[in-house]
Amino acid sequence: MYVYMNGEFIPEERACVSPFDRGFLYGDGVFETLRAYNGRVFRLNEHLQRLRAGLEYLHIRPEGLDRIEEILYELLSLNSISDAYARISVTRGSTGRGINIDRDSPPNIVVFTRRVYPPGEDLYEQGVELVISKRINQRLPDEYNLKSHSFLNYILAKYEATYRGAYEAILLNREGHVTEGSVSNIFCVKEDRLYTPPLRSGVLRGITREVVKGLAGMAGLSLAEKELLPGELMEAEEVFITNTIIEVLPVREIEGRRFGVGSATKTIQGLYRELVKRECGG
Ligand code: PLP
Repeated sequence: MYVYMNGEFIPEERACVSPFDRGFLYGDGVFETLRAYNGRVFRLNEHLQRLRAGLEYLHIRPEGLDRIEEILYELLSLNSISDAYARISVTRGSTGRGINIDRDSPPNIVVFTRRVYPPGEDLYEQGVELVISKRINQRLPDEYNLKSHSFLNYILAKYEATYRGAYEAILLNREGHVTEGSVSNIFCVKEDRLYTPPLRSGVLRGITREVVKGLAGMAGLSLAEKELLPGELMEAEEVFITNTIIEVLPVREIEGRRFGVGSATKTIQGLYRELVKRECGG
C-alpha cells in the first residue's frame, strides 16, 4: 500500500515519522476518518471543513491542504481500493523546545487508506451492547470540531467497554449528561421524537450525526437536541450509535436494560444507505 506524506506518495514500509514529531510526542494534531464507497468519499467536503476548523482551533497552518481531495483520490487509485477506510492526519510537526509552539516548523500531513471492515450484518440486525463509562468526557463545549490526536480518554473508555464485554462505552460530562461514545455519536427515539445530545454537552459534531439529523423528517420523526441524563436514555424505546464507518448501528442493551431494534432505527438505517448509494453510486 502507498501512503501520502508531505508531498510524496511512498510505499508504507518507507513512511517514517520523526521521533520529534509533536503528534507522536504530545498528541498535538488532528485527524479525520473517512469512508469511500465505490471509489467515492462520502461527505468529503464536510470532513475537510471539520479538519480545517480543528486546525484553526489549534493554530496549525499547514500548506498544501487545498490539494487533499486530489491526494485522497490519487491514493485510492494507487492502492486499487474502492471501498475504503481513509485517514488524514495533520500534526504540528517537529518540536522546538518542550511544549512551546514553534510557528516556523512545518506541519506534517499523512494520508493513508485501508480496506474497510464495518461491523457484521448480524450486529446491524441484533444491535450492540453499550456501557456507561466511568470516565468523564473532557471535551469543552466549543471543541465540537476538534478530532484531536489526544485520544487517550476515549481509548480507555473503549477498553472499559471491551473488558466488560460491550461494543462501545458512552461518556458523561461533568454535569452527568450523556455526551458521545468513544468513537460514535448517540441517538435515542421516544414517542416519534429523535433525540441527540446538543454540541454544548461536549460532543463531536459527527458527520454521520449531521446526516442522520437531516433524515429524521423523512423517517417521520421530529428532531430534538436535548441534554440527556442516563436515566432518560434508559427510558427510550430505541437507541442507536453513528459514525463514518459503522453508519447507523442499533443498540440492544445498555447496562442491563434491553432495547428492541425498532422500526425508527431501521428506517434511518435504510435512508442512510440509500443516500450513500445516491451520492457514491453502487
Ligand atoms: N465522537 C467521537 C469521539 C468520534 O471519535 C467519532 C468518530 O470517530 C464520532 C463521534 C463520530 O463522528 P463521524 O460521524 O464524523 O465519524
